Amino acid sequence: KERGRANWVRYAWGMERPASAHARLGGDLRRALDAGEFRIVYQPIVSLGDGEIVGVEALVRWEHPERGLVSPADFIPAAERTGLIVPLGRWVLRETCRQAAAWIAEFGPDVLDKAAPNVSVRQLHDPDFVADVAAALADSGLPANRLVLELTESAVLRGQHVSQVLHELHDMGVRLALDDFGTGESSLSLLRAFPAAIVKLDKSFVDGIELDEPDTPAADARQAVARAVAQLADALGLDTVAEGIESQEQADRLLRLGYHVGQGYHLGRPMPPGQLTELLAARRVKAAA
Ligand code: C2E
Ligand code: MG
Ligand code: MG
Ligand code: MG
Repeated sequence: KERGRANWVRYAWGMERPASAHARLGGDLRRALDAGEFRIVYQPIVSLGDGEIVGVEALVRWEHPERGLVSPADFIPAAERTGLIVPLGRWVLRETCRQAAAWIAEFGPDVLDKAAPNVSVRQLHDPDFVADVAAALADSGLPANRLVLELTESAVLRGQHVSQVLHELHDMGVRLALDDFGTGESSLSLLRAFPAAIVKLDKSFVDGIELDEPDTPAADARQAVARAVAQLADALGLDTVAEGIESQEQADRLLRLGYHVGQGYHLGRPMPPGQLTELLAARRVKAAA
């Protein structure tokens, strides 16, 4: 601090001993939540066959007054450690439900099949979580079956309590998606035990999947994994989303491997809600023409 305001960022984020840096970041996150500095950007989830938007993923951003736009990789871990992820996640959940209900009110029920916020394991352990989800749905008017909660494998692996929470959400009609699928542990047994509706193939299997070079076993392995995950999901009655699609070649290849829905910069970047509203409006005009 004594170095002056301009040095605050470097000092606080890079140079302090971890414990005090964490404490300060925790306090800063709390302040940011109270000050309304968090934003949600929405990334289209798209039908690979016809390019229709079938859903959106909600991704949080921090509009820091000095650092500018901060990506979740730089504050979600701290929010999880400090527990601030519980109120932050609750805000993301409520805001996503409100926004999705507004889009449905404006464009009709077919505009979106799903709106999908991410949920941390810390939230699943919060005793109020199921009630919070129910309240977010009731207050927004969003039908439960339009809400998809994205969870990682490591989050859902943890124990009896989480399992009960997930079944309660499932019984409410909320769908659960396994995010970053293939990067965690014991994916197969998990799929049987867990009331998932959607599997999201991790971007690491999509990177390079368009390559057809017999000399690069890595590319072949990605295709084999992607095909196996699609077949497994099919056999278990789960929907799939392929993540991180950056080219038409990847989209084409994934279609052939059994994916019908995808997400990625090639199909649409995460964008502010106003921009997605314009996109939805433009598509409706196009569809009516
Ligand atoms: P995720 O849930 O797997 O989200 C996908 C991430 O991949 C997003 O990064 C998205 O912007 C990025 N992405 C999408 N398409 C492409 C692509 O074609 N190429 C590349 N290179 N990247 C792509 P983002 O927004 O930085 O979020 C990172 C992670 O932070 C998320 O991964 C999620 O685990 C976490 N996160 C984001 N928002 C929240 C939140 O509200 N709550 C919690 N608990 N976690 C969140
Ligand atoms: Mg996600
Ligand atoms: Mg993901
Ligand atoms: Mg991911």
